[in-house]
Amino acid sequence: MEGGGKSGAGRWRWLSGGRQRQQEEVILMLLCGLTIMSILPFGIYRLLQGSWSTAAVDMALVASMSVVIVHVWRTGRHQLAGLVVTIVYSAGMVAVVYLRGVSLVYWVYPTMIAAYFVVRPIHAVAINGVGLVLLVVMLFGQMTLVNLSTIIVTVGLVNLFAYVFAYRTGLTTQRLHTAVELDFLTGVGNRRALDRKLLEHAQERRPQLEASLLLLDLDHFKQVNDQHGHAAGDKVLKQLAELMRAHTRSSDRIFRYGGEEFAIIASGAGLSAAAHLAEGLRAAVASATLLEGHSITTSVGVAYMDKRQTPAEWLASADKMLYAAKQGGRNEVRVAS
Ligand code: GH3
Ligand code: MG
Ligand code: MG
Repeated sequence: MEGGGKSGAGRWRWLSGGRQRQQEEVILMLLCGLTIMSILPFGIYRLLQGSWSTAAVDMALVASMSVVIVHVWRTGRHQLAGLVVTIVYSAGMVAVVYLRGVSLVYWVYPTMIAAYFVVRPIHAVAINGVGLVLLVVMLFGQMTLVNLSTIIVTVGLVNLFAYVFAYRTGLTTQRLHTAVELDFLTGVGNRRALDRKLLEHAQERRPQLEASLLLLDLDHFKQVNDQHGHAAGDKVLKQLAELMRAHTRSSDRIFRYGGEEFAIIASGAGLSAAAHLAEGLRAAVASATLLEGHSITTSVGVAYMDKRQTPAEWLASADKMLYAAKQGGRNEVRVAS
């Protein structure tokens, strides 16, 4: 139920014919499949009985669900389809109760709960709310006030529980997605986040959105650990992350690439702007006191994220420049030409 994000954790590779499928797509298709299987026998039964109107509603539901399965299967676009399914479901449920009478009101409960699996909790509440109002209008006068009130209260409770559950699950999922991409020590993005961002840029179709990649590796960092202990080394890394945050724009993304290696995606930066940023960072690290009594410097490699190349090639190119900066004597910036 995440808002359109293509998250790694929410993907199911199976059933996909090669493409990575999101969990939401699979749930929607399963739900449609289940609906077809549970409604089709009733539809056929009603056809045989000659109850044309009810049969028509059943068959319309089966047909719409089949269309949705094919659409989601082929395009992977599940959000609008999810809304359509929920509305069709809801309308079908109201229509069936209208046509067959109050005895079919039990279908309201699973139908309403299913909505929370398919659309955002707030949309499910809205659609189910409309459904409930229509039901009450229809059933008013057909049953005792006590029975009608029981339906209203139980439908209300079912929606309340489903809403709270769906909302909390959505929140937890969101938090997990964030946590899974965070570096525990420094609070910047981790390698997984970097890989995702690089891939996103590679797939970005707007050519005007350019970016550059900076790789930083602290110079002789082993000495910091050897002379001052691992805890002091950790503190340096945290302060370095702070310094990088202070010296980059909010649109730039910072990642911890490895032990004491960091990566920055400078969005909107061509090679010369990125070189300028890298030089600023190098100078800031050199002049900052990251550790009392120990001067710390960093080497930086910079590469332009050319859309004709792959993320692996950007990384290799920036890494080559970083290596060159180390070879050149460290505390240096090297930019890929
Ligand atoms: P160079 O200038 O060639 O980069 O020298 P270096 O000593 O920095 O060498 P290298 O990058 O190969 O070594 C990285 C060291 O960083 C090794 C390890 O002791 C230290 N390190 C890696 N991760 C951590 C960490 O999370 N905390 C601390 N305190 N140290 C780390
Ligand atoms: Mg190093
Ligand atoms: Mg290193």
